[in-house]
Amino acid sequence: MPELPDVEAYRRFFAQHAAGRTVRRTLVTDEGILRNASARALDDALRGHRFEEPGRHGKWLIASTTGPVVLFHFGMTGDLGWGENDEARHRHDRVIFELDRGELRYRNMRKLGGLWLAHDQDEVRAVTGRLGPDALGIDRRAFRRLLRGRRSGVKALLMNQSVLAGVGNLVADETLWRARLHPAARVEALSEDEVARVHRAMRDVLRISVERYDRVPSPRGWLNHVRGRPDAACPRCGTPLDRATVAGRTTYFCPRCQPYTGS
Ligand SMILES: [Zn+2]
Repeated sequence: MPELPDVEAYRRFFAQHAAGRTVRRTLVTDEGILRNASARALDDALRGHRFEEPGRHGKWLIASTTGPVVLFHFGMTGDLGWGENDEARHRHDRVIFELDRGELRYRNMRKLGGLWLAHDQDEVRAVTGRLGPDALGIDRRAFRRLLRGRRSGVKALLMNQSVLAGVGNLVADETLWRARLHPAARVEALSEDEVARVHRAMRDVLRISVERYDRVPSPRGWLNHVRGRPDAACPRCGTPLDRATVAGRTTYFCPRCQPYTGS
């Protein structure tokens, strides 16, 4: 499932291929992927407009043009492709933006996520809902402020997009494993040092993922290297990992490095 690092990679891909390009025509092969506009309305709205430098907020790719804004969400199986012409299109390319050079394709096999059209910033906010600050850029002071007064489990809070935008299941587990905190630890009980550890771990996981891999990687020494294996053991201490549902998601953690200390 695309997480912040994947969407950041899509943003760069979009910038490389589509920014500065004018939309000649928009083809929709599956109208079900458009969430708030018809194929006709999308084409009418975009035709002749130029894509500007794209933005990203959490897991949203925000593609402004000289006219309206297109919002991309990648669900479980979304992806972007590009071609010089209409050759090598894929059967799961749901929307094709024919540009003044080449074409950008939005592919999505399972059709979670989708595309939205917005005409101004109010409409953008109406589509995305309330989003907290982006997780990639937040500094320690702002992170501390964000957690102040919250009553929640720490994993649930990290993944709450209205508090902090962009953290998904893999980033949350990797972060808390590095910070040696139980995923269900209570935010209101965290010490200053623990908050700083969570922030540092999240920043490191996101930066390494974005700068070196374009996704959440699974190199040796990461929790993500072993998660999902039946005999998964902590890469740090060798203790068999525990698996539980936390914040509604399958969660891996080390019972020795991340003991539950709350009430
Ligand atoms: Zn351990």
